[in-house]
Amino acid sequence: MPIATVNPANGETLRTYEAMGEEEIERRIELAEATFRTYRTTGFYERAGLMRRAADLLEADQKEIGKVITTEMGKPVKQARAEAAKCAKAMRWYADHAAELLADEEPADADVKDSGASRALVRYRPLGPVLAVMPWNFPLWQVIRFAAPALMAGNVGLLKHASNVPQTALYLEDLFHRAGFPEGCFQTLLIGSAAVDDILRDERVRAATLTGSEPAGRAVASTAGEMIKKTVLELGGSDPFVVMPSADVERAAAVAVTARTQNAGQSCIAAKRFIVHTDVYDAFAERFTEGMRTLKVGDPMDEETEVGPLSSEQGRSDLVELVDDAVRGGASVLCGGERPDGPGWYYPPTVLAGVTREMRIHREEAFGPVATLYRAADLDEAVLIANDTDFGLSSNVWTRDDADVDRFVRDLEAGGVYVNGMTASHPAFPFGGVKRSGYGRELSGHGIREFCNITTVWHG
Ligand code: NDP
Repeated sequence: MPIATVNPANGETLRTYEAMGEEEIERRIELAEATFRTYRTTGFYERAGLMRRAADLLEADQKEIGKVITTEMGKPVKQARAEAAKCAKAMRWYADHAAELLADEEPADADVKDSGASRALVRYRPLGPVLAVMPWNFPLWQVIRFAAPALMAGNVGLLKHASNVPQTALYLEDLFHRAGFPEGCFQTLLIGSAAVDDILRDERVRAATLTGSEPAGRAVASTAGEMIKKTVLELGGSDPFVVMPSADVERAAAVAVTARTQNAGQSCIAAKRFIVHTDVYDAFAERFTEGMRTLKVGDPMDEETEVGPLSSEQGRSDLVELVDDAVRGGASVLCGGERPDGPGWYYPPTVLAGVTREMRIHREEAFGPVATLYRAADLDEAVLIANDTDFGLSSNVWTRDDADVDRFVRDLEAGGVYVNGMTASHPAFPFGGVKRSGYGRELSGHGIREFCNITTVWHG
């Protein structure tokens, strides 16, 4: 894939970039390592000051960077600005909390004594340069939720961003630089995915994190495994959204529309499979379909637009294939389902009913505004359908019954259970999945500790 800004609203190539060559990559890895040697000795207070400054700058840039994001990957500009604001919040959260999250831990006195020590503690030390392979769907947020904790922990970052968001990638390097982080703390590598393997094999690169598709995750994790390097993977999802009879169906349907179509449905934690108890199925299906049908689809630069184009032509044709396959297999289209003519990679909000296990859309991630509806006879069947996927990122359940909640929290195979609301990440809560959605956690104390050398210090 060329490294280029191609406007998804009209398919126009606006800027192309030459990929960095071997020499430049070497220079940047060397700089990352050299910077790490001194940056690792800085204190939390100093790092927090830099991180807060970066947050202030990002907030001030919201309007400008929002437009860049919209031009590069097509999300409505309002959502792009909101993404920038969310990043600033996470940066401040880590600036405020890193010292406490990574404070020395003291084992219980009895255990210290039992080990024969006069004193013992656990210290979280940074690992070194971490490679971040990131996707285009939240081109600021995916990077910041790695960079804020990594830099606060004393690591340095090397970003390989998706090839279709080079301007955002360069903006991020500039942002940390302007904030006063030493040169080499956060660098963007303008490279294609084929260059990742060699970088992972470089001894100076200590760990990697990847957010993206399963094949990309598998490639990075295999090489990292060979090199015995730590990885965190945040891959796809096909989150269930379960609606039980005691739920507020009206609200559930309204939230379901947002949960499925935010960012034109191109989100790993978007609700994708809507599993509705038979007693409320018709009421939910009617309201949900109406909500999907009446969304404002159009120019992502328009402040009123709710759903913009998909990020790429490939992304749209993948989605079209999934829908066509389902329709051929007997699914019924309650709304949408037709690829529009004309410029831009638009696809209408679509609801499919009568989806079966044989259809590809039942097993694969639909990365666009396409919802599948399932009817469940009871809670047991709802749990069965919800877990009938290779993914396990998050889940949403709608019920006012505490016994239902207990069952879902016990049985849903996912890294999150959101009750009467939609999944949304927050800096204070761990984020990540099970099964083929990946492993490891981002955000919260769990996220910042992923790339730390958890060191036992023992005194005889
Ligand atoms: P990819 O996984 O291909 O891209 C994500 C990142 O990984 C990009 O930086 C990409 O670089 C890089 N990459 C791709 N292949 C490799 C590889 N073999 N080795 C190292 N790095 C690699 O996602 P796509 O954009 O192609 O989207 C395809 C599907 O992935 C979507 O339809 C969706 O299902 C899923 N996805 C999930 C996301 C999530 O948030 N979990 C985000 C994006 C996609 P480059 O751009 O240069 O190819």
